[in-house]
Amino acid sequence: MSLIVQKFGGTSVADVEKIRAAARKAIRAQQQGNRVVMVVSAMGKNTDVLLKLASDVSSHPPAREMDMLVSTGEQVSVALVAMAIDALGAKAVSLTGGQIGMKTDDSFSKARIQSISTERIERLLDEGNIVVAAGFQGIDDDLNITTLGRGGSDTTAVALASVLGADACEIYTDVDGVYTTDPRLLPEARRVEVISYDEMLELASLGAGVMHNRSIEFAKKFNVPIHVRSSFSDAEGTMIVAETESQTASVCGAAMTPSEARVTVLGVPDVPGKSLQVFSAIAAKKIAVDMVVQNVGLKGRADISFTVRQEDLQMTLKTLEGVVPVVGADAVTYDDQVSKVSVVGVNMAKQTNVASTMFRALADAGVNIQMITTSEIKISTLVPRSQAAAALRAVHQAFSLHQKPDDAKSWHQIRSERGNRADVDSLISRLQADALEALTLTGISLTKDQARVTLHGVPDKPGIAADMFETIGEAGIFVDMIVQGYDGEDGSTSVSFTINDDAIDHSVEVGQAICKKHGMRDIQSGTDISKITVSGIGLRSHTHVGTILFKQLADLGINIEMIGTSELQVNAVIATEKADAATEQLKKAFAASLGSV
Ligand code: ADP
Ligand code: ASP
Ligand code: MG
Repeated sequence: MSLIVQKFGGTSVADVEKIRAAARKAIRAQQQGNRVVMVVSAMGKNTDVLLKLASDVSSHPPAREMDMLVSTGEQVSVALVAMAIDALGAKAVSLTGGQIGMKTDDSFSKARIQSISTERIERLLDEGNIVVAAGFQGIDDDLNITTLGRGGSDTTAVALASVLGADACEIYTDVDGVYTTDPRLLPEARRVEVISYDEMLELASLGAGVMHNRSIEFAKKFNVPIHVRSSFSDAEGTMIVAETESQTASVCGAAMTPSEARVTVLGVPDVPGKSLQVFSAIAAKKIAVDMVVQNVGLKGRADISFTVRQEDLQMTLKTLEGVVPVVGADAVTYDDQVSKVSVVGVNMAKQTNVASTMFRALADAGVNIQMITTSEIKISTLVPRSQAAAALRAVHQAFSLHQKPDDAKSWHQIRSERGNRADVDSLISRLQADALEALTLTGISLTKDQARVTLHGVPDKPGIAADMFETIGEAGIFVDMIVQGYDGEDGSTSVSFTINDDAIDHSVEVGQAICKKHGMRDIQSGTDISKITVSGIGLRSHTHVGTILFKQLADLGINIEMIGTSELQVNAVIATEKADAATEQLKKAFAASLGSV
């Protein structure tokens, strides 16, 4: 008998009629011969209502009490859904997070799942019940109620599907699938029939709110197919699976996080270990930082810029207040009126001109790019919030995301091509059952023979990045990483990129011409550098990855020249001289997460 998990989001259980409709869907699935586990969210906007109540009572509500409060939203839903099923003549039992044995760590409001006990669910299913589980919540060792973070019911659903070995995990929501970007922001967005785990994980982490990013970590680790579909229609929906829709399209989707903040720590003494102090203090607060850019400025001091979600800004600034004097930095500046616009695609690493196409689209829309970071699977830009919507539209258009790629495959095609081939191995065999959401690494590797070019004093106005990377592309130079960061010295920016060692002379020549054309301050280059790549699943959301990396490299006296992060890889550019030692050291430090690899 197959087992299916059906998750219903807030809008899908927003009122009595919708609760009945959800109940009918589950009953229908049961009548078709499935064992059915439902995961439900709080009704409508109930979680927001509860959060507002808390902020009316206190400006600093204790984290534990917040979770106690917001978890009640899901408790209301599960009871009502179970009643609706009962009223329709089928059997159902509702269960809270604690009752399904959803054990988490004790980080309130961002708790990670450690283990789930399946016996009670299995027993209830054996007795013919539809099990209605509360999404988003768990309990810690001390039986405190915890929550997984906004949107966390998706993660509950996929985690349950994983440990129960479900045949399908259906996510019922208010859109009929995953689109190339949020269809509420861009009506011309296209529904995709298939998207890969890697792409969805990255898009979700960069702002595509349709799925909670951590749910995709589970899906990938356990190889659970996710079917995203509408609660209100029978449209086909989207399959999130190991395969991609197209083998050639460089970009599969665009995403925006409207509420970002840029933080710059000015005048950090440029000696190994200082970045570690800055980032470990922030990571300890479980704040995910993104777009990390370090610019070496005057007198051996560096400016370190990064982005955090705006909601984490106050906590970040407070944390830095304690760190800045210890590190010996000069000051902290921030901008809380910025947004992050990103494009994602697993095929982009193999293609040229992807970055310049994005930068040209932004330039033509008159958008000023304040920061840039890239990884093998995404390009992120930081733009003024007032221009974010226009930026997203321009980028979506530039990559023709509204059009289906010529070689797009349907789910039906992909499934039949899978044939008898054994399914992609699930990584779970080497995960400890008591650490379901622990960091999972798949490898640590080294790419030698790299070189870096940096342009300082890049005018902070639209069109420069576009012109620069078009010129470099026309010269036939293949660029790997790109970072652009805030240049504390005079308010301009610095742009660095990496290339193969053998392209250095040509790149410097081209760089000099660009420098002259735009009146930039100077050009610097570095050879004998290597790229260390740590690969895994959910690296950005596991905030301690950066801390471990920075610590190991600092212990060896190694300076990180450039860093690029995605959910799948962290790339650090360092001097080749110490690269082998660094790789060995990192393999040791991450041994527990590398499992048997
Ligand atoms: P639920 O309450 O069902 O979990 P959410 O509001 O969390 O629903 O997620 C659905 C919403 O996600 C959609 O209404 C849509 O506006 C938004 N969204 C953001 N990015 C995307 C995307 N790439 N594809 C589809 N929907 C998206
Ligand atoms: N109710 C929670 C929220 O609104 C969890 C969820 O819906 O996934 O964030
Ligand atoms: Mg959601």
